[in-house]
Amino acid sequence: MVKLKILFVFLLTVFCSVGFAQIKIRLFANQSPESAVFSVTEGTYELNLFNGRILTVLKEEPVIITKYKGKLAVKKRNTKGFICDSLDLSGKTGNDSFSLRMNGKSPSRQYYSGNLQCYPDLGTLVFINISDVEKYISGVVMAEGGTGKNLEYFKTQAIIARTYMYKYFEKHLPDRYNVCDNTHCQAFNGLSSDSLLNKAALETRGLVILDKDSALIISAFHSNCGGETSSSDDVWLLSQPYLKGVVDPYCRGSRNATWQKSLSVNEWVNYVRKSGYNEKVGDPSAFNFLQESRLADYKVGSFTMPLTKIRSDLNLRSTFFSVNAKGDSVLLKGKGYGHGVGLCQEGAMEMASKGFNFKQIIDFYYFGVLISDINNAVIIKNE
Ligand SMILES: [Zn+2]
Ligand SMILES: [Zn+2]
Repeated sequence: MVKLKILFVFLLTVFCSVGFAQIKIRLFANQSPESAVFSVTEGTYELNLFNGRILTVLKEEPVIITKYKGKLAVKKRNTKGFICDSLDLSGKTGNDSFSLRMNGKSPSRQYYSGNLQCYPDLGTLVFINISDVEKYISGVVMAEGGTGKNLEYFKTQAIIARTYMYKYFEKHLPDRYNVCDNTHCQAFNGLSSDSLLNKAALETRGLVILDKDSALIISAFHSNCGGETSSSDDVWLLSQPYLKGVVDPYCRGSRNATWQKSLSVNEWVNYVRKSGYNEKVGDPSAFNFLQESRLADYKVGSFTMPLTKIRSDLNLRSTFFSVNAKGDSVLLKGKGYGHGVGLCQEGAMEMASKGFNFKQIIDFYYFGVLISDINNAVIIKNE
């Protein structure tokens, strides 16, 4: 009963206090931290222990939080340590930020703004950062946006990251937060230090991509499409009118435009045999396969297998490749990097540097979509 009550209060907290302007992010989600050092970098914090005690925390007063017998051991510099069940560090000036350094597995220090909650759970410490969504968005673009350095490119990436965030805003709600900080949701390594990127997030504040029914789109993206994006039907067996293949002239000279992999004929024969190829092997040129524009399957003779399976089995950069057997080797000549669905990052960077704006870039890669404020989105629950 008590447990249920606590869960209920936590759920209420997520719904009521966070709304659409703030987000609860689980930090260091895949690292099972056992201790951490919290330090104020801007403003003033209050450490609330839920037993009536409140401690003020200033700069130069690091707080060490350690897992201790299913509880938390907390020690602020120059004060006596104590044990508690959970804690809440709240910024008091409206412009508060802090650093968090995990002890043990990851010695790196990362920077955050907003508030921090901590409680022990299943042998680890759970750290939840309650952050302004736009600061979270610029942090995500910093972690996932690639190497482009252009305002319109950053705006495009910010809108994509925001669309993804709101679409899966309740993914972790049973865990009492909105998102985790690794690629299960979107990579987030703390605040962005790039002022152009922060400007891009603020100038597109609230903007998301909607489909014709005003639902948030699946804002898929990848590094380089190799000159033609994939249709989501071919990659995920999922049909979406806005995720259709588009011929992309912009990414062809970019870093990840082409790749090659060479195997011996024996390796290739063993591989296709395991995958069901049962014809007699004569001239290896029987394995040749040309992919000038994107196809869904590798077809030679009567043998067919999905290119997505070959890509994952052989750890290839893309499904957009041709097969050329010569002598005793098989050369896979490929284009692009990633699943190929949705926006091509290197193409988008090139479009931005040619003077296209974020709306033109988004319209080019996603068919028939609308860029609008999140308040105009129809939110479908329990997806
Ligand atoms: Zn997650
Ligand atoms: Zn491309």
